[in-house]
Amino acid sequence: MVNIIDTHAHLDEIDNLDDVIDRAVKSGVRAIIAVGQDHASNLKTLSISKKFPSIVYPAFGLHPLHIGNMSNDQLTDTLRFIDENSSDIVAIGEIGMDYDKRVLKVASKEVQRDVFTQLLTIARKKNKPVLIHSRYAWKDCFDTVRAAGIEKAVFHWFTGFSSVLSDIINAGYCISATPAAEYHNEHQRAIKETPFAQLMLETDSPVIYGRENRYTSEPKDALRSLRAVAAIKNEDESTVADMTLRTTNRLLEINA
Ligand SMILES: [Zn+2]
Repeated sequence: MVNIIDTHAHLDEIDNLDDVIDRAVKSGVRAIIAVGQDHASNLKTLSISKKFPSIVYPAFGLHPLHIGNMSNDQLTDTLRFIDENSSDIVAIGEIGMDYDKRVLKVASKEVQRDVFTQLLTIARKKNKPVLIHSRYAWKDCFDTVRAAGIEKAVFHWFTGFSSVLSDIINAGYCISATPAAEYHNEHQRAIKETPFAQLMLETDSPVIYGRENRYTSEPKDALRSLRAVAAIKNEDESTVADMTLRTTNRLLEINA
């Protein structure tokens, strides 16, 4: 059996976690990084990590999709909570910027960049890696991370331009591969262009994947990400599992 890590899952949005985690373990998943999206999600993620301490590692974040619905006080409280409780987490995420027009309608580029920069400042001060959402905002997101002086960053489910990807690689940052690597051309290209020392596996579960056969993902589907990466890179699955595990353990300073 392989040993793999799901570096990005929304466990707070998944029911029947006992069964889900059992299936993940049986598929070779050794660790799951549970990301938070807002204050309630951060709290739930922390309690899940306490229930499954041997496998679930928590991260606290504030997703750009949620910024638009928050008051200034809620924003300040969420940032303060992350800052004050950073010793409980392995990373800060999910954070980032999203230029989808539905998101821009509620949170402008400037507002998103401002909040993202504050989160990156906390990450830098606490020396935590960051797990980044960068949909349609790839270049601005990279520039903001770089300008904040961040050393360890994962651009999750990266589908952006090759020019930005080469900036990411040259800066020593990572990307992570989802099960969309089975069919999504831009994601496949990014995986092909990224060296193993900068590549991780994830599911972003419970995201729904698939073109003909749609399914709701869970952490065990990190195995699908592994198999897709192995096919794209023309390497055996066990080699890809070993290399991505090593990269993840090193970047997140865990020992899975
Ligand atoms: Zn996510």
